[in-house]
Amino acid sequence: MLCPKCRSLNNKVIDSRLSKSEMTIRRRRECLECDFRFNTTEEVMRSEMQVVKRDGRREDFDRNKLSNGLRKAVQKRPIERLQIELLISEVVAELDKAYDQEIPAKVIGDLIMERLKILDKIAYVRYASVYKDFRDIAEFAKEIKYLK
Ligand SMILES: [Zn+2]
Repeated sequence: MLCPKCRSLNNKVIDSRLSKSEMTIRRRRECLECDFRFNTTEEVMRSEMQVVKRDGRREDFDRNKLSNGLRKAVQKRPIERLQIELLISEVVAELDKAYDQEIPAKVIGDLIMERLKILDKIAYVRYASVYKDFRDIAEFAKEIKYLK
């Protein structure tokens, strides 16, 4: 992101806020060269983004799908909607930085689980059980043991 004043690319985020619609995040940035402060808006990922599934099939990246999956995992857990949306926005930002068009589904799942593990262990196990599609109870038990 270019600084509007000096055109430098070096800046840091000093504040992030979720919009009312929960579809965008506003960030306050500060230029590291000239200290100028400006706002940026981060939106849902570009629609041409494709997710490559394990079997090689592709589908459009769908933020709502991520959001629904996560909301199921955090049901009755002390986690707010905002935390979920922020988590997804972080993941989306990271994907946007690292990938141009095609994102392996595994990467998305891993990035989500990484964060969910810190947020709530129960939600993490629920999410992992769906996402990882455990083949048997032993695999599931292994994951639980790993958590401890
Ligand atoms: Zn600047």
